[in-house]
Amino acid sequence: MQPDPIQTAKLAGTRLYHFHGGLRLRHNKQVSCELPIARAALPECVYVPLMQHSGQEAEPTVAAGQKVLKGEVIGRCDHAGGGWVHAPTSGTVNAIARHPISHPSGLDGVCVLVEPDGLDQWTALQPIADWRDAEPAELRELINGAGIVGLGGGVFPTGRKIEEASRRGIHTLILNGAECEPYISCDEMLMREQPASIILGAQILQRAIGADRTVIAIEDQMGAVYQALARAVAATDATAIDIVKVTTLYPEGGEKQLIQVLTGLETPSGGRPTDLGLLCQNVATATAVARAVVEGKALVERIVTVTGSGVRRPRNLAAAIGTPISDLVEQCGGYAEGAARLVLGGPMMGYSLASDANPVIKAANCILVLTENDIQPPQPEMPCIRCGECARVCPALLQPQQLHVTVRNGFWDDTIEAGLADCIECGCCDYVCPSHIPLVDWFRHGKSELRRVAAERAGAENARRRYEAREARLARLKQERRQRMQEKKQALGDQRAKQERIEAAVERARSRRRNET
Ligand code: SF4
Ligand code: SF4
Repeated sequence: MQPDPIQTAKLAGTRLYHFHGGLRLRHNKQVSCELPIARAALPECVYVPLMQHSGQEAEPTVAAGQKVLKGEVIGRCDHAGGGWVHAPTSGTVNAIARHPISHPSGLDGVCVLVEPDGLDQWTALQPIADWRDAEPAELRELINGAGIVGLGGGVFPTGRKIEEASRRGIHTLILNGAECEPYISCDEMLMREQPASIILGAQILQRAIGADRTVIAIEDQMGAVYQALARAVAATDATAIDIVKVTTLYPEGGEKQLIQVLTGLETPSGGRPTDLGLLCQNVATATAVARAVVEGKALVERIVTVTGSGVRRPRNLAAAIGTPISDLVEQCGGYAEGAARLVLGGPMMGYSLASDANPVIKAANCILVLTENDIQPPQPEMPCIRCGECARVCPALLQPQQLHVTVRNGFWDDTIEAGLADCIECGCCDYVCPSHIPLVDWFRHGKSELRRVAAERAGAENARRRYEAREARLARLKQERRQRMQEKKQALGDQRAKQERIEAAVERARSRRRNET
C-alpha cells in the first residue's frame, strides 16, 4: 500500500496512514458519556460463566456450598487459549449449573453461582512490591494468573499473548483506545477518568514484553481524553509513551486496521502483529494489568456501557463479572418505552441476546438496548447486482461478493483462497449492500463450516493414517510369522539331517564291529 499521511491527525511526530475502505458512522456515544462511571450494585446472585476466553471451558475448582473470597480462583483452564476465572465477590457457591450465557451461539454454558455475603472481602492479595525490579517472566506469570483477557472483545488470555510476544521480539506496544463502533464509550470514559492506571499498565506491559515504546491510539474527537492521558504521562517518569489521535473511521479500532493507520504496514494474511514486532492491547486490558501487578487483584469486574434509546439513563457502570444484565439496565433507570432488542456489543459487530438474565462477561463492553424505531424491518434479499460497493468498503481488501458465492455454494477450498479467514466480520459490506444480502451471516456460517470441514478432513486423514498403520502392522506380523515358520522348518530339517547323520554313523560303527567279529 502507498502510504498516504493524514496531515490533520499528525501528532507526537507520528505519521499516519489510511486503511482501505471503512465507513463513517453516526457515533451516538455522547449520550452515555454525560454521567461519570458508577459502580454497579452487587446482585443477589452472580452467574460466572466458566467460558469467558477463547479456547476451552475452564474446570471448576470449587464445589456447591463452599465459601469463597473475592478474587479466589473458581475455574481454571491451562490449555492454550484458556484462562482462569475468579470469584467476583465473597460469598457462598450456591451451585455449578448450566445457565444462559452471553455468547453468539445463544447456547447455555456452565456457570458458578455465587451468593454474595455483602462483605465483598478480597482473598489474600499478592502484588509485586516493585514492578520495576520484577523479572519480565514474573510479571507475565502474575498477569496470566489474574485471568486477564483482551477486554476489547478478543478475550484471548493476555498472559499467553504477551508470553508469545516476548519470545518473538516486540519493539512497540500499541494501546488501542480507538473505540470505533457507535454507542460504545467504556474505553473513552476509562481514559478520561483513570488515565494514570492506563499509563501504569502500559509501563508494566512494556517491561513484560521488552518493548522500547508505547503508542496509545485514541480517536480524534476524544479531546478530553487526550488531555487526561497527556497529563498522566507527564506525571510519571515515562519517556517512551506517545498519544496519537487517529481519524474516526469504522473499523479503525480493529487490530490490523489500527496497525496500518499507525505504521503503514499490513499484517500479512494469516499472520499476527507480532510478525511486525508490534503488540496490540486494549486500554482497559492495560488497567487490568496495572491492578493485577500493583494491587494483586484478579480481573473480576469491567466497565460496561449501558446505552441505546431503549434505556432511560444511559451511562457506564463498573460491574462485577456475572451480574445479570437486567440488574445493570435497572440501575440505568430501566427500559424505556418501546425497548425491543438487547444487543451485546455495538450495532455493527454485536449480537442479540435472548434474555436479560444473561450475565456480564469479560468481553461485555456494551449493552445496547434498541427500540422498535431503531430496528429496521427486515428487507427482502435480492440478487447481487455486482455494484462492487462491498469491496469498496471492505477494510480487509476482500471481494465480499465473490466470497459470498463460494460460501453459499460450499466451495470450501475456493473460500480459503478468497481469504475468508481474513474477514473481521466488521459488517461494512452488509451495511452498504443495496441487495440486502446478509453477507456477514454467510461469512460467519462459512467460518464455522470451514472449521467443521477441517475437523472432518483431519478426522479422515487420521483414519487413513490409522488404516495404513494397521495394514503395515498386519503385513509386518505376517512377514515375521512367515520368517519364523521358515526358520522353524529350517531348524527341523537341520535336526532331521543331523539325526540321519548320527544314525548313519552308528550304523557304520555297528557294521564295522560286525565285520571285525
Ligand atoms: S465483514 Fe468481512 S468481508 Fe465484509 S467488509 Fe468486513 S472484513 Fe470485509
Ligand atoms: S454490495 Fe451487494 S449487490 Fe453490490 S456487489 Fe456486493 S454483494 Fe453484490
